Amino acid sequence: MNQSDIFAVLDTIPAQIDSLIARGALFVINHSGGKDSQVMYLLLRGLVPAAQRVIVHADLGEVEWPGAVDHIKATTAGEPLHVCRSRRGLLQMIEERGMFPSPSQRQCTSDLKRGPIERTVRAITRERKMLDIEAWGLVVNCMGMRAEESPGRSKLTPFKRHEGNSKAGREWYDWLPIHDLTTGEVFEHIAAAGQSPHWVYAAGMSRFSCCFCIMSNKADLTTAARLNPDLYRRYVDLERSTGQVMMMPSKKHGRQTLEQITGVMVDQTVIA
Ligand code: SF4
Repeated sequence: MNQSDIFAVLDTIPAQIDSLIARGALFVINHSGGKDSQVMYLLLRGLVPAAQRVIVHADLGEVEWPGAVDHIKATTAGEPLHVCRSRRGLLQMIEERGMFPSPSQRQCTSDLKRGPIERTVRAITRERKMLDIEAWGLVVNCMGMRAEESPGRSKLTPFKRHEGNSKAGREWYDWLPIHDLTTGEVFEHIAAAGQSPHWVYAAGMSRFSCCFCIMSNKADLTTAARLNPDLYRRYVDLERSTGQVMMMPSKKHGRQTLEQITGVMVDQTVIA
């Protein structure tokens, strides 16, 4: 399978994309370092001229898998890479609020990712305006969410104008280029491009981003606890100090601490 085959499975590229490319839009590739970002980048590399591509990475600090930025650099073609960070890290936010983020609100996503990335994109457009670049305010913000990941994500609109950010001379679109790809196709396309995903997948993780995610399943939490025992201990400590648990109660097991879910007790953690 080669790069062009990616397009064979993506018959959902919106008609507006060709015209946005022709108008000189800047395509902002949101890149976490995970597999979905990686395959989205590969798609966009074949579609959008290099001068119209930039990469933005929301650095999650201490809760991010090591090597995320290095992996992005190793699998991209030298596009401008903007690394942004929220003012406070996730663990500090939990400490200060005395509670973990909830899957229904997902305030962690807006605090750690969406907010810093959108601020960065607005700053990029301001700089392009100062440099008198034509179409300085025309932005296509590309994100790697896929329908298969969750019922919520399956309902997302793959291409739409972002009214809130289409201000002050900007014209901003949000696009989910790989919304229709399956997990299997994601890995196939990465391999077909001669690349490998970040090492955590081979180590057993199914998802990237925060090492310990409020949306994780038991297998990922357990793998992450073994791979990253120091960080695991900090989450366990936060559960104890706040009196809260990180994961939502399940119908089958009710309320459980991380140690109950993973079976990994902090004093018995072993580096895999
Ligand atoms: S990866 Fe999980 S914990 Fe981290 S910001 Fe996203 S939803 Fe929140």
